[in-house]
Amino acid sequence: MGIRSWVACSVVVVSSGLLAADDRGEGAVEAVATSPGVTVIAAATRTRPWVHPTVPSDVAAKLGAAIDLASDRVARFPACADLFSSLGADATRTLESVLYLPAAPENEAEACRHILAHTFVGDSRTWVCSRIKEVTDSQAAMVVIHEALHHAGLSERGRDRRAMTSARINEMVSVRCRL
Ligand SMILES: [Zn+2]
Repeated sequence: MGIRSWVACSVVVVSSGLLAADDRGEGAVEAVATSPGVTVIAAATRTRPWVHPTVPSDVAAKLGAAIDLASDRVARFPACADLFSSLGADATRTLESVLYLPAAPENEAEACRHILAHTFVGDSRTWVCSRIKEVTDSQAAMVVIHEALHHAGLSERGRDRRAMTSARINEMVSVRCRL
């Protein structure tokens, strides 16, 4: 369905000074919280993922719905949570440790015509295309889980020829998490 992400792609320019990602999650959250000039939106519960304030509000609203749905799925369906545990990660903790950032303008103009989000393997940051606001909550939740699996260490075809394709990962998430 055209949802894919690249991993470890040099096209992505990291916002300078934002954070040094710690793929274990907690360190990254701490790094963000203490970085000068960077503010984060902390939701009602302290364990919510971080949506950067530069993410447009309508995109943030869709992300919020997607994160809630994704969290519900990993909590309710063991087969969904097992996607993470098979990588040695805890599903809920991994979802909670993601930092969502807006896709860079150059990616919005090009890559985002074909993808909805991207990240790097092991990276707690997920860059989100504004187009995600146009898909269903279920599709957006699939993106959230797909990218979180990369955070947990799942690689993807392209860099890793033995890995699953992006479409295959989506299919797996769809089946296991009933999305
Ligand atoms: Zn991917």
